[in-house]
Amino acid sequence: MAFCGKCGTQVQEGVKFCPSCGAQTEEAQQTQAADAQANKTMAILAYILFFIPLITGDHKKSPFVKFHTNQGTVLFIAAVAWGIAENIVLAILRAIFWNGYTWGVYGLFSTILNILWLAPTVLCVLGIINAVNGRQKELPVIGKFKIIK
Ligand SMILES: [Zn+2]
Repeated sequence: MAFCGKCGTQVQEGVKFCPSCGAQTEEAQQTQAADAQANKTMAILAYILFFIPLITGDHKKSPFVKFHTNQGTVLFIAAVAWGIAENIVLAILRAIFWNGYTWGVYGLFSTILNILWLAPTVLCVLGIINAVNGRQKELPVIGKFKIIK
């Protein structure tokens, strides 16, 4: 019999979370740490080329890879959707405001939209840092979307 490291409640073998306080059990933590250690490279790759783990099937073998592949894929889809939305908005603004200069209203908005492109880049870097450190941590905004089953 094992005990919860947080509240001391007795927990059964193979249980991932303490039934009393919800903390991750030591056994689950060790399993996750070993998984993270063994599959770190693939988890990092998931943020650079999200489809690599999907092709190799590593996301099925490792919950750590699955977690990061999910985030890498959501991030990629969000970036593509964002890119399409940005182009539509810019096309509309260009039609309305374009005056031959870059520094009109159009120039201002295109600059702002370009700066906003830093967001997916920052999230990508954060995800890679989490993977490197063996952490299974949800990214802000996009982390809660689960698409990889
Ligand atoms: Zn507990």
